[in-house]
Amino acid sequence: MKSRGRKAGPFAELITRTAYLTPWTEPLLACARGDRLEGRTASNRPREGRYNCRLKTCCKCQEKAGIRAGKRAWSLINAATDGKVDRNFISAVHVNYEERDLRGFNRLLKNALRRLNVKYTGEYAVSLDGSLHTHFIALHSDQTREELEQALKEVFPEDRSVVVDELKQRQSTEEAVRNVIQYAGTPPVKKGDRRDHFRLWNPDGLVRYLILDAQVQGSRKLEGMFTLSDKAKAKELRRAMKKPMRKIASTGISSTSAATADAASDVIRQKGR
Ligand SMILES: [Zn+2]
Repeated sequence: MKSRGRKAGPFAELITRTAYLTPWTEPLLACARGDRLEGRTASNRPREGRYNCRLKTCCKCQEKAGIRAGKRAWSLINAATDGKVDRNFISAVHVNYEERDLRGFNRLLKNALRRLNVKYTGEYAVSLDGSLHTHFIALHSDQTREELEQALKEVFPEDRSVVVDELKQRQSTEEAVRNVIQYAGTPPVKKGDRRDHFRLWNPDGLVRYLILDAQVQGSRKLEGMFTLSDKAKAKELRRAMKKPMRKIASTGISSTSAATADAASDVIRQKGR
């Protein structure tokens, strides 16, 4: 028999097998089953569509959110560089934080990035060991990648807390930026996560992880230093990205097309005049 939790991912699947009832059990499973919305809206129309739990541990919801965040990140970077991206000044950054104190982490990181005049977009997540980390894209026009890494290591001095990488060479800048962000907030369910945290990968461990994750209060979004004009341009870019993306979805091709990039850079060019 196929598990009801399959679509929402391994967490929902484990939950269906565990004897524990958690506050996340029913929402995760309702999302996995694709339950239809019930009741009426504020304007007294029947609610349409399917239930989305939007939980951080739901693979289904996080995949959707990731794609959206990836698009947003690319549009912001593209807008902030006027469509002339120089990969030497764009990096994929990963920072680990020892405690589960999102506010403290956020404050330290944001202050550092502001001081360095870095534009950034990404997301915080909880690892299976319960600690916090973040993946984000940094646009660091004022310093080299090495300088950025050095400066961040002074703020987060723990061993291997800061990793600043170039974008994947085989990918286009758009693909690379979107990929980094798309997976930044997804639940830790990769093969490597199971191997490295085998003690957590059972119902007990799972419930412990869910509790740790739930203890982190506040928005997981990490974004800053983009100007109002960056944001306005990015919004137009996303609007331009929308049409071709829909067409792609209906023909079953999943990767981004050159047409999307062209449409996006057209907007940038028009805005530049
Ligand atoms: Zn969900």
